[in-house]
Amino acid sequence: MNQPPPKKRKADENNNIKENRMRAVQAGLWHDDGNIILIAEDTPFKVHKSMLSKKSEIFRDMFSLPQPATLDESELMDGIPAVSMSDSWIDLRCILLAIYDGYQTFGTSVALSLPTISAFLRLGTKYGLTDFYESAVSRLNATFPSTLDLFMKKMDTALQECRVIDKLGTTIIMTSADAIVAINLARAHNISSILPAAFYTCSRLPPKILVEGVKDADGNRSVLSPEDLARCWAGQQTLDRLYAVAIQSLRFEIGGRLCESSDRCFDFKGYDTQEDLYKHMGCCFGSASHLDMDIGDDLCLGCVKARASAWTLFQKETWDSLLDIFDLKDSTHG
Ligand SMILES: [Zn+2]
Repeated sequence: MNQPPPKKRKADENNNIKENRMRAVQAGLWHDDGNIILIAEDTPFKVHKSMLSKKSEIFRDMFSLPQPATLDESELMDGIPAVSMSDSWIDLRCILLAIYDGYQTFGTSVALSLPTISAFLRLGTKYGLTDFYESAVSRLNATFPSTLDLFMKKMDTALQECRVIDKLGTTIIMTSADAIVAINLARAHNISSILPAAFYTCSRLPPKILVEGVKDADGNRSVLSPEDLARCWAGQQTLDRLYAVAIQSLRFEIGGRLCESSDRCFDFKGYDTQEDLYKHMGCCFGSASHLDMDIGDDLCLGCVKARASAWTLFQKETWDSLLDIFDLKDSTHG
């Protein structure tokens, strides 16, 4: 990438830049001994060429270009070169913070915000900051895993609390509504591995949130594309139907080959207990723990086990069909 051509700044731009300097000061990105000022959306950051060059070949090349012997007044600020960048100031702030603070702030055991993940993906590629890009992809994969086992662990804890945290240490601070943002990031950066779990998470959102989208701390709103919104709704309807059928089918597991007490279990089968189950299991990937509550007085252990294994099989088959259910086959192979 070539260094952006020096741009003459107008007086009102200079005023904005002075006002926005506080953003850099607050973020700890206005270093008095810095030797370059990067300006993104009229927000200046006073940083060190050596710090940026150490992390990024692109910055290294950019700073090694020969400079004219004398710079015009408009290309200087605080007496040092000032370069206009085409990035958003929020993205640039995230990347600069990561470069300066490194793993103390951005290590795998630290939860990162979603705007930081977005910045890592966007600028990680652009400036050759491979570590940051890969860290963002791995955190997204851990948050929206491709295996049912890992996803179920999240369902049990984090998703129900609307906070997704990976126990292995790759973490993102986000609510389940932020799955909308995750889908858009996956689309923009071709991270198709997270799509099934992210679409499933979206399909559990209230319709109002699904349609209106989510706002980040800076007021930027993310919505699904009309195509993805349609996918999500159609998938949600399919899953609701599969769920209802699966709950109904559980009664056929009672009094089968594993049954140890057919009279008692057949009595239980006569009651209409499916509605209760439907409510408590909640969704296709709801925990099977409610099935254990009928052990003892109501059902024999053999029948409880038969129902649990039928439920586990249903969950596995449903998980394996998510690409079809959300019409994602073209997204993952194209
Ligand atoms: Zn039984």
